[in-house]
Amino acid sequence: MNKILLIYTGGTIGMMQDVKSGSLKPFNFKHLTKQVPELTRFQLDLHSVSFKKPIDSSNMHPRVWVELAETIEKNYNKYDGFVILHGSDTMSYTASALSFMLENLSKPVILTGSQLPIGIIRTDGKENLITAIEIAAAKGKNGKPLVPEVAIYFEYELYRGNRTLKYNSEHFDAFKSPNYPVLAEAGVHINYNFNAIANASTKKLTVHKALDNDILVFNLFPGISKKITQSILNTSDIKAIILHSFGAGNAPTDEWFIDLLKKQIDKGVIIYNVTQCLEGRVIQGKYQTSVQLQKIGVVSGEDITLEAAVTKLMFLLGQKLPLQKIKNLLGINLRGEIS
Ligand code: ASP
Repeated sequence: MNKILLIYTGGTIGMMQDVKSGSLKPFNFKHLTKQVPELTRFQLDLHSVSFKKPIDSSNMHPRVWVELAETIEKNYNKYDGFVILHGSDTMSYTASALSFMLENLSKPVILTGSQLPIGIIRTDGKENLITAIEIAAAKGKNGKPLVPEVAIYFEYELYRGNRTLKYNSEHFDAFKSPNYPVLAEAGVHINYNFNAIANASTKKLTVHKALDNDILVFNLFPGISKKITQSILNTSDIKAIILHSFGAGNAPTDEWFIDLLKKQIDKGVIIYNVTQCLEGRVIQGKYQTSVQLQKIGVVSGEDITLEAAVTKLMFLLGQKLPLQKIKNLLGINLRGEIS
């Protein structure tokens, strides 16, 4: 029998309404499993662990990602797959972070959650949870897992985790993977898109636990002033700045703007160009408004999501690699995060 470990971190799926304030707050795991008696009917050996204090995913933190990665590492040889129950708000960040932290993965790590708590009759949580478990346990005729990567299952679709973003806070269909095809669709059958699913690694799992969050996301808008740009860029201790740019990686061409960026690069700060567009990619040099960025040494984020860019930087900075090596790796596909 396949052995699956369910890891409960919190999120709406297990929340209940606070009697006094009426707001939703995380509740314990027993409450959640009581609402899904179907879990006992699986032809699986299903085990679970829960965070002592479940969290709303807005309180997610690199320290918790390390805890999650360690839980998987400790149990890696004992289980065939892992399902992480997680709030949807920052699920894409966690999935991206885990994809970098878990190198040489050969087993499924499927994140899921819901938009309505599991105790509500119309909840989307039951289907999400049940199908996520089924996917984590799915194996081919050769006995190998069908989805040996970090993925998100939500509302009938399975996505590569580091390609996703939370797109809708109301619809059950909350996630998108704008630059990569869905890995599977669940209807009467679960149809896997084998061309898009990563191959299982044949090497031993390596878990990277050092993450460095001395980074900043600098969101551009028309009319951004010199004064504000100066004070943002001069924030002390920053090691890398994500330049959240327009269109195909474009930015204002004002001399002061380019000079301020260049000063940071000369100081050894990495500037990573990630587009505000959800689809398409950064092509530095395509427009005149990105020629200077390329010249001064801004690194192109290609078609990476903001979520994957943030976590890739934390991961690479944590490795304490030479600056040029980090810049090279930022432009290279490490875990299927860019194409
Ligand atoms: N605020 C919740 C969370 O991210 C939303 C959800 O779970 O859907 O924890």
